[in-house]
Amino acid sequence: MPSHYQQLIDFDQKHIWHPYTSLNHPTPVFPVESASGVRLKLADGRELIDGMSSWWAAVHGYNHPVLNAAVTDQLTKMSHVMFGGLTHQPAVDLAKTLIDISHQDLQHVFFADSGSVSVEVAIKMAIQYWASKGQPQKQRLLTIENAYHGDTFGAMAVCDPDNGMHHLFKDVLAKHLFAKRPQCVDAEHYDPAAIADLQGLLTTHQHSIAAVILEPIVQGAGGMRFYSPAYLKKARELCDEFGVLLILDEIATGFGRTGSLFAYQQADVCPDILCVGKALTGGYMSLAATLCSSKVANGIGSGEYPTLMHGPTFMANPLACAVANASLKLLLDSPWQQRVSAIEQQLRRELEPCRSLSAVKDVRVKGAIGVIELHQPIDIHWIQPRFVELGVWVRPFANLVYVMPPYIMPAEDLSTLTAAMQQVVAEISQK
Ligand SMILES: *Cc1c(COP(=O)(O)O)cnc(C)c1O
Repeated sequence: MPSHYQQLIDFDQKHIWHPYTSLNHPTPVFPVESASGVRLKLADGRELIDGMSSWWAAVHGYNHPVLNAAVTDQLTKMSHVMFGGLTHQPAVDLAKTLIDISHQDLQHVFFADSGSVSVEVAIKMAIQYWASKGQPQKQRLLTIENAYHGDTFGAMAVCDPDNGMHHLFKDVLAKHLFAKRPQCVDAEHYDPAAIADLQGLLTTHQHSIAAVILEPIVQGAGGMRFYSPAYLKKARELCDEFGVLLILDEIATGFGRTGSLFAYQQADVCPDILCVGKALTGGYMSLAATLCSSKVANGIGSGEYPTLMHGPTFMANPLACAVANASLKLLLDSPWQQRVSAIEQQLRRELEPCRSLSAVKDVRVKGAIGVIELHQPIDIHWIQPRFVELGVWVRPFANLVYVMPPYIMPAEDLSTLTAAMQQVVAEISQK
């Protein structure tokens, strides 16, 4: 008779898809019983230090009393009401805060139920803006290689054409434009060849381009690459010069992860449209938002197509808005900048020695993000159980071993995490 733990795994592997998995060749899964602070407790009693913040989201750690209270308080009032024709305090409060903490030009908010949907809405806004302005031919998007903007069709079409799913879905995906990836350079300088490529594409296609869409400064799931704020600043200038909107996708980078509240602040630019998600609710619930300037909102509203054509069933879910309000307050009242900067310095110190290992191609750190890039793709079947044996939760993909821990992680737990990364990468180097 298999244990309860093993029964969970057996049923799961046979019947349930996990992100990017095959049911015929399932990758290992580990049942979690509970989570608290920076630790995940597995159903067999083992505890893991969490290096992933559940994909950028759980910045305050798990089972936080303040966030728990926000959810339960809201639960006694209402967990959900439709947003068509109704509104509520949690949504209004959250919109106010988002408008307050983002650039002053961003004054209008659309609540979406996931990051991908917020990107879909951003794309609709851009295309609809130009249609309303009498330029319906401006429908294409321009982005850069290694981009990742989500898994729905609109978002997928602006993901990296090679490591995304363009090949499989090529006949149904919109054909957008991809500029050369900016090479990682210091904060003050941009890569002139990459900017020349962006400029070239804008010159040739300006009449058909609605918007440039970028993850500011840090590219997430498309390769965990960093690029200089100077590139972003230059891209903003080019958008203005060529009459193209700028969409910034801060779903991963937003709410302090790169060292500033929003990554775009490091380039001192303002997007026309901004997407946020992931850490918005402190990792409690799925919620995202698309913000835009009055130029965009009023442009859409005063044109031939004044109605923004989107409205999810669970739009502005009150539970999610309430926990987002509590999470943002918790963040803004905390010394998050010192915490992120302390994590940054420690990650630099403790990951840098990995650079000399033979399997390692690059080590890079930005804010509370630490990345070890290997020369070869990683065998997830081997590495995942190995990390669990070492008492940490790290989820590599492709050739990347990376962490973005909760901001509240104590230094000694972070050391355990980086020691495990070094250990595993050393073992790979010896193979
Ligand atoms: C995760 C992510 C998305 C998609 O968000 P989901 O909530 O998974 O739909 C989009 N853009 C970026 C930059 C992301 O990191």
